This record gives sequence, C-alpha cells and structure tokens, in this order.
Amino acid sequence: MSVHNFNSGPSILPKTVMEEASRAIIDFNGTGLSVLEIGHRTPLFQDVLQEAIGSVKKLMELDDAYEVLFLHGGATTQFMQVPMNLLDNNETAAYCDNGIWGKKAAKEASLFGNVNVVADTSDRSHTYIKKDFAVPADAKYLHITTNNTVEGTQWHQYPEVAVPLIGDMSSDIFSRPADFKKFSLIYAGAQKNMGAAGVNMVVVKKDILGTIKRSIPTIMDYRKHIEAGSLMNTPPVFAVYVSMLTLRWIIAEGGLKEMEQRSNAKSALLYNTIDSLPVFTSRIAKEDRSQTNAVFFLSDPQLEAPFLDLCKKEGMVGVKGYRTIGGVRVSMYNALPISSVQAFCDLMKEFATKNG
Ligand SMILES: *Cc1c(COP(=O)(O)O)cnc(C)c1O
Repeated sequence: MSVHNFNSGPSILPKTVMEEASRAIIDFNGTGLSVLEIGHRTPLFQDVLQEAIGSVKKLMELDDAYEVLFLHGGATTQFMQVPMNLLDNNETAAYCDNGIWGKKAAKEASLFGNVNVVADTSDRSHTYIKKDFAVPADAKYLHITTNNTVEGTQWHQYPEVAVPLIGDMSSDIFSRPADFKKFSLIYAGAQKNMGAAGVNMVVVKKDILGTIKRSIPTIMDYRKHIEAGSLMNTPPVFAVYVSMLTLRWIIAEGGLKEMEQRSNAKSALLYNTIDSLPVFTSRIAKEDRSQTNAVFFLSDPQLEAPFLDLCKKEGMVGVKGYRTIGGVRVSMYNALPISSVQAFCDLMKEFATKNG
C-alpha cells in the first residue's frame, strides 16, 4: 500500500535526503567511517556544519550582522533560552498568544522578567491572527509564532514593530521567502521542515546580545556558542547532517520561491476541497489559514471517527487533530508531494459522496 505522510512532526523528508543519510551511516563520503563515528571537530564535520550555516544564510539572504547556530534542545529550549539571554528581571517582553506554542513561550519568559501578552486570540479559540495591537515602546522584544502548528493559523505578513522581533518558525521555516532581516532572532526545531529531530536552528542578530545583567549558564549563552562556532560541546552531529542535506535539497529544487509555489498549490487544493464539501468545515479565518498545517472538522462530529478510520485504512498517516483540539490536521511540509494532497482530497470526496 502506498503511504501518504501528513505527520505534523517529526515529519516527511525528501526521499533523496534519507537515501543519502542512510548511505552515510554506513560510509560517509567514501571515508570508510560512518557519519555516526566522526569527531565533531574534524574537517569532515566542519564541512557539514559550514555548508548548513552557509545554506541558511543564502536561503534567508542574511548578512554578517547575523549568526546561525545549531543547538540542542528543540524549540522548547528556546522558549527559555531567548528570555534568559535577552530579558532582565526588571524588563518587559511582549508576546503574542495565538495558541499552545506561543502560550508556552510566554510562560517560560515570565520566569526571567515581565511578560505583556499584547495579543491573545483565545477569545475565538485561536482561529485567527490578531493584527491590531500595540507594543509598548519599552518592550525588550516582541515574540510571535509565525505558524501555529496545532491550531492551523499562520502570519502571512509579519508585524511591523519598533522593538526587536523574535519568531518561532518551527513549522513554516523555509516554506516561503520573506524579509527575514525584519527579525532579530529566529528559531526552529528541525523536525518539521528542515531535518531530523534533535537539533534546533537559531538565527540571531548579534547586536541584541549582551544587554542584560544576569549571569547566563555557559551552555545557554548565545554569545558563547557564537564564539565557539556551534562547537562549544558535541553538537547533534547526525541531526545537523540531515538538516544540511535537506537545505541542499531545497536549494537544488529552486529555493524558497519554489517551496512557496508548491506550498501555495498544495494548500489551495486542500482548502478548496474543504470549502466545496459541506461534510467538512474549517473554523479558521480564511486570510489566516496555515499553508503548512490545515486544521478542519467534520460538520457532523459523529462522522469524525469513521473518516479517520477510512484515512487509516487508505494509508493517510498522521491526520488526526491535536489531542486537545480534535478534528483533522493535514500537515503539508516541503517534502510532501502534491500527489499526496490529491489522494487525500479524492478520499474526502469519496467520503462526502457516501455521507452527504
Ligand atoms: C513543534 C513545535 C514546538 C516544539 O518543538 P520541540 O522541538 O518539540 O521542542 C515549538 N513551536 C512550534 C511552533 C512547534 O511547531
């Protein structure tokens, strides 16, 4: 049976990336060594790391004001590491609470300083992005989640603010071009759109660092990681390697413009199908719909279980909604072919005909 992988994360990766990564586990670039047994300070790994950093800078069109780090801990560690490095106890940071991940980020920040939630969309179950809000001039930064993986909303235009902007881009990183220089710090767990679980990418503008009085534990200090070139301690070598291969694949396929075109085509196909079939219903404000994670429901909740059963039977993997939200979630990351979305839409139509 052919399987269609709509997992929300860890999620689908390009087949060529997995083929090359599996070859490298046995013999890395003809060295006779596995990628799992090379030292992280060897020229072999240096090449991997430098290519990964160079690819990020190229895709995001970043200049030397920015540093790219590959760190342990996943995006959740950044919820703490960002305020630990940027927010003093007597200072205030602004946060947008557009769902579960933004809320968690704000909660961690409150351990280090004051948090001002400037936009909270819980009034309508996080089904939209609130864009008209004010950020106090003395806020140290504004934190947004560019794509709400669980709720299915996405910022299609980043907010214009006078304070440094920080983005959790875990689930839409490298899915579209943007003016990334609007951000002072961007982070993403790799396992959704750029690689295997176990590594976190952090892009940081150097001028926002060093403005607080707190002593920072060495392993949490961005400046120490910059000094050490992401090699303060052993980095997650294999996960960095898979990210490097995925970045190489994105560039070879045509870069972020091409990823965006594919993403536009896939999400248009799915949302048009949802909108055309009364059996299904989307609660998300149309202009804020996520292109990477479509969240929707069965109009008759009684039909949810039979629909998910049918998906399972037909090899549609990972389409059950998040445990606290329910419904259906279809994740359409870079590596997902449009043929998978087409197969899913065909199944929706078949289900609608039988249950209409
Ligand atoms: C998945 C996700 C996280 C959590 O990532 P971990 O790597 O599991 O810590 C944080 N933010 C967003 C937007 C996510 O999608």
